[in-house]
Amino acid sequence: MSARPMPYLDSLNPAQREAVETLNGPVLMLAGAGTGKTKALTTRIAHLLATGTARPHEILAVTFTNKAAREMKSRIGSLMGEAVEGMPWLGTFHSVCAKLLRRHAELVGLKSNFTILDTDDQIRLMKQLIEAAGIDAKRWPPRMLSGIIDNWKNKAWTPDNVPVADSAAFDHQGIALYTAYQKRLRDLNAVDFGDILLHMVTIFQKHEDVLDQYQRWFRYILVDEYQDTNVAQYLWLRLLASKHKNICCVGDDDQSIYGWRGAEVGNILRFETDFPGAHVVRLEENYRSTPHILAAASGVIAANKGRLGKTLFTSREDGEKVRLIGHWDGEEESRWVGEEIEAMQRGTRGMSPLGLDSMAILVRASHQMRAFEDRFLSIGLPYRVIGGPRFYERMEIRDAMAYFRLAVSHDDDLAFERIVNTPKRGLGDKAVQTIQRTARDNDVSLVEGARLVCQGKLLGGKGLKELTILVDGLDRWRSVTRGPAMPVIDDDAVLDDGLVDAGFGTEAADYNHVELAEMILDESGYTGFWQNDKTPEAPGRLENLKELVKALENFENLQGFLEHVSLIMDNETEEQGEKVSIMTLHAAKGLEFPAVFLPGWEDGLFPSQRSMDESGLKGLEEERRLAYVGITRAEELCTISFAANRRVYGQWQSQLPSRFIDELPEQHVEVLTPPGLYGGNYGAAGMSASASPAIAGAAKSTLHEKAHSADVYDSPGWKRLQSRSQQRGTSATPRAQSVTIDLEAVSAFTVGDRVFHQKFGYGELMGIEGDKLVIEFDKAGSKHVVARFIVAADQ
Ligand code: ATP
Ligand code: MG
Repeated sequence: MSARPMPYLDSLNPAQREAVETLNGPVLMLAGAGTGKTKALTTRIAHLLATGTARPHEILAVTFTNKAAREMKSRIGSLMGEAVEGMPWLGTFHSVCAKLLRRHAELVGLKSNFTILDTDDQIRLMKQLIEAAGIDAKRWPPRMLSGIIDNWKNKAWTPDNVPVADSAAFDHQGIALYTAYQKRLRDLNAVDFGDILLHMVTIFQKHEDVLDQYQRWFRYILVDEYQDTNVAQYLWLRLLASKHKNICCVGDDDQSIYGWRGAEVGNILRFETDFPGAHVVRLEENYRSTPHILAAASGVIAANKGRLGKTLFTSREDGEKVRLIGHWDGEEESRWVGEEIEAMQRGTRGMSPLGLDSMAILVRASHQMRAFEDRFLSIGLPYRVIGGPRFYERMEIRDAMAYFRLAVSHDDDLAFERIVNTPKRGLGDKAVQTIQRTARDNDVSLVEGARLVCQGKLLGGKGLKELTILVDGLDRWRSVTRGPAMPVIDDDAVLDDGLVDAGFGTEAADYNHVELAEMILDESGYTGFWQNDKTPEAPGRLENLKELVKALENFENLQGFLEHVSLIMDNETEEQGEKVSIMTLHAAKGLEFPAVFLPGWEDGLFPSQRSMDESGLKGLEEERRLAYVGITRAEELCTISFAANRRVYGQWQSQLPSRFIDELPEQHVEVLTPPGLYGGNYGAAGMSASASPAIAGAAKSTLHEKAHSADVYDSPGWKRLQSRSQQRGTSATPRAQSVTIDLEAVSAFTVGDRVFHQKFGYGELMGIEGDKLVIEFDKAGSKHVVARFIVAADQ
C-alpha cells in the first residue's frame, strides 16, 4: 500500500467502503436506485490506482453510455487530482469492443478499418438478401429479419449455432439469410452493432492466445448497470475475468429495462454461480431522493412479482409529495410543463429558484418529445434532447448525412445507395442495378459508375436527366468541400484596411460548411421534398433538418462533423448553457435531477401497448421497472402527468390513465389541477394550486379520477372508452385504446370567425382540424387550439 492519503473514502458508508476496499476476487453490489453504486464503483477505480494495486491500463470499466463513461472519467480525475498518468479503459461494451475488434479484425475475416453499419444500412442489405432469396418482402419485412438476427446476436449465436428450435424463424429461411447476411457484411468489410460483441466473443473463444493476452492485461474489471447486460456481453465478461476473477459488478434487478434488447436479469443471479465465493454487498440507504419520492417509487415497483426484493431507506427530510396532474390533451400537458418550468426557475412553492440544468422531462416514447420541443421553441425555453443517436437515427437526418458523406467522399457507396432515389427522381431498382453493374464492371465507386452511365447514356429519358443533375451536384458539392489548398497568408496579403485578401477567388471563399450543408439540402431537392409532403410528420422533419444544420456550426468542417457523429454511438450531444433535458426513460438510467417531469402516463403509451398486448406479465413488469427508474431519477420534485386526449400519428385518441398511476401510494401523492384549463386563471399564481375541492370530490376514489377534471370524464370519447373497459371487467386489458374524438364541439364556428382565447387573446379562425381550431392570433401567431377553449369574439 502506498502512503497516499485517501480522503475519498471518508464520504462512503461502511457497505460502500467494503465494496471499494475488497479489491481482489469477485464482488457483486446489488442495490436499489440512488444507493451510491456508481459512486462506489468510481471510488473503487480511484482506490485501485491510489493504492498502486493496478495501473490505469490494467483497469477496464464498462458503463452503459458514453456519457456515463465521460462522467466517470472526470470523477476519477477529481478524486485523484493530477496523480494518475493515463486513464483506465472506460467505455460502453460497444466502444471498448470496437476498439479491440479493430486490432484483431483479421481473425474474423475483416480488415481493421471495417465500417459500422447503422440500422438503415442494415435493413437495406437485408432487403436485398430477402429479394435475392425470392421471399415476398411484404409478408416478410426486412425489419423483422433484422430483429430476429439482432436477437440471435445478443444471445451470442453465430449462424452455425442457432438452435434447431429456432430454425423455423422467418419462413424457415432465417438461418440461411443470417449466413448470407454475415457473408455480405464480410464482403463489405462491415459489421453491425451486434457483431461488435459477437465477433469479440468468437475471437476469445477460438483464439486462446488472444484471450490470454487480454486476461493478463485487464486485471481489474468493473461493470455498472450489470442488470442490463445481454448474453453476448455476459459471455465476453466471463471469458475475460475467468483467470484473475477480479470482477466487480453493480446492478439493480428493479432497474432492468433492456429485456426487449436481450438483456437478462438472470445474469445477476448467475454471478454467484459463475464466481463462487463472490463477495456480495448490499446497499440500503438512498441518498438521492426525498422520502415521498422514494416511497412512491417503492409503491409502484412492489406490484412486480419477479423481484429479488430490497430494503431502501433515506435519511433525507420529507420534502414535497409526488405531484400528479391530468390534462385535457398532450398539447396542454406540454404547455403546462413549460409554464411550470418557468415558475420553478423563478422559485415557486417556497422553493428556491432552480436552474434549467436541474430539470428533466423523461418520456416513454421519443415521439412524445416533439410536443415539448415545439412548445419550448415557441416560448424560447432552452432545452436539450438527450438521445443524440436517436436524433441522428431519424430518417431525414440519415438522408441528409448521406448527402454530406458524399460531399466529403464519392467512394461512400452506401451513402449513394441511400440517396440515389431520395427524394424520388424516377431512378427505380432497374436504374440502380444499371449503375451498380457499371460500377462493378469498371471497378469504380457507385458515383463514378453513375457518371459512366450518364456518359454512355445507359438510361432512358427522365432517369438519365435526373442522374446527370445528381452527379453534377455531387461534383459541385465535393469541390466546395475540398476547396483550394489553404493559401499561406503573408504580410502582403493584408490589405491596407486590415482585411485579409486570401485570394480564394473560388467557391470556397463564398461558402462555409454550414451554408454548404443548406445548399446541398436545397439543391438536391431534399428540403423541397419535405416541404411538399403533407403528412403530419413533415414539419417535424424539416425542424430536425434545421437542427442538423445548426449543429454543424460547432464544427470546423463537414468532415469533422461526420467524424463526431460516427463516434457518438449513444445518446449524447454536447451543448453549452443551462437547458432543460428531454430524454427517454431508457436514456435516463443512472442519472439524477432535482426536478423531474414524467408526462404521458396513459395506458397504451406507458405502459406501452405492446407490453399490454403480450400474454404474461413480462412486458408489463419491465414497463413498471421503467416507471421505477423514472421516479427514482428525481431528487426533490417529481411530477407525473397524463392527458385525456392525444394525437397519435395525426389521429386524436382518447386515453385511459396509466394503471401505474393507481399503484402510486396515495399518501405520498398530491393531486394538482390546472385551474386555467377548467375556468380559472391560467396564470403563474394558479400554476401550483392543489386539487380543487369540486374536482377531488367524494365520488372520486382512485388517484387518476382525482387528478382529472370532471370535464374530461364528460367527454364522449372517454365515456365510451371507459364503458368498454368496464364491460371487459377490471382485470381486462383495454386493447383498443383509441376512440376518435367527436367533433360536435367544433361545428359552432366557421372559418373567418373572429374568436377569443383566454391566454392567446383575439384572433381569426383559419381552419378546423378534428376538434382543434387553427387560429391566427393577433399577438400570439398561428396556433392549434382545442375548440372548447375558444369563444366567439365580441369585437
Ligand atoms: P442508480 O441505481 O440510479 O444508478 P446509484 O446506486 O448508482 O443509482 P449514485 O448515482 O452512485 O447511485 O448515487 C446517488 C446519489 O447519492 C449521488 O448524488 C451520490 O453522490 C450520492 N451518494 C452516494 N453515496 C453517498 C454517501 N455515502 N454519502 C452521501 N451521498 C452519497
Ligand atoms: Mg448508478
